[in-house]
Amino acid sequence: MDIGFIGLGNMGQPMAHRLIEAGHKLIIYDTRNDAVAPLVTIGAQLVSSPADVADRAETVMASLPSLQVSEKVAIGEGGVIHGKRIKRFIDLSTTGSSVAAKIAAALAKKNIVQIDCPVSGGVGGARKGTLAVMVSGPRADVDLVKDVLAVFGKVFLIGEKPGMAQTMKLANNFLSATAMVATSEAVVMGVKSGLDPKVMIDVINAGSGRTTASDGKFPQAVLPRTFNYGFATALMLKDVRLCVEEARGLSAPNSVMSAVLDQWEATNTEFGGDSDFTVIVKMIERRAGVTVGAEKKS
Ligand code: NAD
Repeated sequence: MDIGFIGLGNMGQPMAHRLIEAGHKLIIYDTRNDAVAPLVTIGAQLVSSPADVADRAETVMASLPSLQVSEKVAIGEGGVIHGKRIKRFIDLSTTGSSVAAKIAAALAKKNIVQIDCPVSGGVGGARKGTLAVMVSGPRADVDLVKDVLAVFGKVFLIGEKPGMAQTMKLANNFLSATAMVATSEAVVMGVKSGLDPKVMIDVINAGSGRTTASDGKFPQAVLPRTFNYGFATALMLKDVRLCVEEARGLSAPNSVMSAVLDQWEATNTEFGGDSDFTVIVKMIERRAGVTVGAEKKS
């Protein structure tokens, strides 16, 4: 199938790679040359705007870093809405349900179907094709693309209303964000009392405190002090903010969400939005005056 793909960053790059490996022809666009070059090498066709992409493919996917960029690429000047061939726009980004609904309504006026398709499982999952792929949109169009989406991982059909998959994704990421900050506080507390952080993580992973932070992020990016898990602090802050807004909009309780949001706001202020989100542990270390994973003095 001819597939357009816009936004070839940490997630888009490996996902696009998998589509090419599965035999699809990709038409790609990103504002960064270094993002497109590796895919051009393996056969992707590079064009010069989202509208150009949408001139050449019926199905266009996007994996973009902010709500503003998603809106611009979808329905702004030079956006896919102006394409001649596009029939469906699959947004793999996390945008929250209101932006998804706004884009869906604008595209519908041009008979373009919006399919929300946020994903979870990180860069590793994108490379291996083991993501959780959450889909909402009109059933007929979803049916047409669900086998293509299965290249990314396990496909979950969430519903037909625009934005439903986004709400699902925000609930998931809130839990992931909470696990990261809660594990950071737990381990920093232990280290301050003299516990070995590696032993702590081993115990937690064998016990009831095990989370995606303790069995993935800590062993891979915190204990070795590499802080290179592949997800920016700004993106985690965006997701938690969207989740709090979503809960407030629904008058659903959000006291834990709001407390977690404060911690990501502080991390973003202190380490910048481009930092890897695993640096949240450094923010907590600063307040405690200890370092997790540092060599133990004998
Ligand atoms: P990223 O910043 O690495 O990639 C975004 C890409 O979009 C970049 O290559 C950037 O150059 C490109 N871009 C920016 N503006 C553009 C424009 N106007 N036109 C075309 N391209 C443009 O971000 P990411 O980590 O790949 O995340 C992408 C989306 O996926 C986000 O919504 C994020 O929340 C979500 N997500 C990320 C992860 C993760 O682990 N990184 C996991 C699940 C979901």
